[in-house]
Amino acid sequence: MTPTLLHAGNPGPFTGEGNWTYLIPGDHPVLIDAGVGQAAHLDAIAASLPAGPAEVIVTHAHSDHTGGAPVIQSRWPSARFSKYPWPERDGRMPWRSLADGDTVMSGAGPLVVLHTPGHSPDHIALWHADSRSLFVGDLLVLGGTVFIPASDGGNLVDYLVSLERLRQLSPARAWPAHGPVIEDPERLITQYLEHRRQREEQVLAALAERIETVDAITDRIYATLAPALVAMARDSVLAHLIKLEADGRAQRHDVHWAIVG
Ligand SMILES: [Zn+2]
Repeated sequence: MTPTLLHAGNPGPFTGEGNWTYLIPGDHPVLIDAGVGQAAHLDAIAASLPAGPAEVIVTHAHSDHTGGAPVIQSRWPSARFSKYPWPERDGRMPWRSLADGDTVMSGAGPLVVLHTPGHSPDHIALWHADSRSLFVGDLLVLGGTVFIPASDGGNLVDYLVSLERLRQLSPARAWPAHGPVIEDPERLITQYLEHRRQREEQVLAALAERIETVDAITDRIYATLAPALVAMARDSVLAHLIKLEADGRAQRHDVHWAIVG
């Protein structure tokens, strides 16, 4: 598996240096993720593949992955567009629905669709068994952690299950939507699980001190935080509280949270 990396050209506070999209040329050329419709991105697709992709598979509905779909469709009307459904967010594109376990042909052989919710409810990864490589969308990013937007479709319990599922595959390599290729995905997943465990301990410690609201817990855990990132940090804390609630270790009354027992 040697995909062509095409940058979406969308650096910003929430995308870092911007998104990677992956073109797999061949008989049934596939583009993984649609970028945001930058002219340079479309020109790069055309330079690699004048006839355009046969199929565009997006990893999830967030706009940095789907925003470019309409302009790609305008330029190459025969392309098919596929994703796992998220009806509230799928807009007007005529998405072909993917389901867990589906096989999608690519120029490099079959890709298996893995429903991997957590970062978003519709998130998928694509598994190329021949090369033991995974296209992981926003599940993994080297040098950082993944945002779980608890108030907008994110779920930490689901995310941890998804990570465990990826780890079970013993992938040799992972291609993320942000940042460099990941040559040792299992190691990164292990680090992620440890990071979440530590974060959970911090949230429990705050609750034990009767620090009871999301805002107060966020202030305690994240001592210094750029103002633009406070809302994300609060949503991350909420994600942990909701997980603790699901585990039977925390409960909420209105906006106040407490340890169970
Ligand atoms: Zn995303």
